[in-house]
Amino acid sequence: MTILLAANAQTEDITTWRSELQAALPEERILPVDEVFDPSSIEIAFAANPPPGAMANLPSLKFIQSLWAGVDSLLADQTLPARIPIARLVDPAMAATMAETALLCVLAIHRRLFQYIRQQEERQWRQLPQVCAAEVGVLVLGMGRLGGACAHRLLRHGYRVAGWSTRPSELEGMKTYAGAAELPGALADVDVVVNLLPLTDATRGLLAKPMFDHMRPGAGLVNLARGAHVLERDLLDALDRDRLGHAVLDVFETEPLPSDHPFWDHPKVVVLPHVAALTDPRTASRVVAENVRAVRAGRTPVNLVDRARGY
Ligand code: NDP
Repeated sequence: MTILLAANAQTEDITTWRSELQAALPEERILPVDEVFDPSSIEIAFAANPPPGAMANLPSLKFIQSLWAGVDSLLADQTLPARIPIARLVDPAMAATMAETALLCVLAIHRRLFQYIRQQEERQWRQLPQVCAAEVGVLVLGMGRLGGACAHRLLRHGYRVAGWSTRPSELEGMKTYAGAAELPGALADVDVVVNLLPLTDATRGLLAKPMFDHMRPGAGLVNLARGAHVLERDLLDALDRDRLGHAVLDVFETEPLPSDHPFWDHPKVVVLPHVAALTDPRTASRVVAENVRAVRAGRTPVNLVDRARGY
């Protein structure tokens, strides 16, 4: 049987993806979208930033497996066939990497690493106040597969952790908040906010002045989710007014970040090139292979996207 690998021509590691997927699914034939194929033979497609319309004319299509954890750009394709189930990538290896990145960023803010790097550039010897992890409050926005892993990793490190999601939940060792009404309360007592929300109509532009105004003056922001969560001019303004102390940004409205963007030179911003948790084709291929086998066997695949919610 044939599975379409619908990837953007710019996907650098497409050859690696193809060979890892093929190794994980030796019983299938993995076919890149730029090769000649019979559209009616495709029942399953892998999606990795496919060009718009790549899955529009596949009459036998019954399942799409995203190779990315975030499906915002896939769902934005107006030609995506309705009612076809879409699963997103949920890879424990990716969650572990994301948790490591969150810990790295929170530790660097908490232990003032960025200030010390600036001081070194100016040959300044100055000891800044030091507090222990238990005194530092961290709020994780989005307590899903990635945010939840981050929250637990930060908790293990001794931080005072809270999480925010849409539906209420109870988690040992941390406070949880749910829904828009509880966000101001969740933000009030927090030193660092880590964003791991999916990008949806409800979350686009959420990291903006109204939210920053609810945060403690001097608090840090770590955005590991999507650039469009942030209103960039509001963030620059909050940093310039010392409303926020520091921002570590892995994702941006425009990627790559344009060379004249003010974030590059901003003394309170650290720019990462969308590397918080890269998808590893080796582990991801094994994960998605299980879903393909479920579909072929007539079972329901896991990690299905709720199209109405957008994640
Ligand atoms: P999940 O779908 O597992 O979790 C999403 C979480 O966000 C859930 O807890 C959900 O709440 C919560 N949520 C969604 N909408 C709202 C809202 N309006 N208000 C409050 N909470 C909300 O996603 P993942 O954890 O797997 O991934 C999160 C995002 O991380 C991805 O969508 C992607 O954008 C980003 N990402 C970034 C990478 C990088 O390298 N920078 C790599 C991979 C992913 P509930 O539990 O109640 O449904």
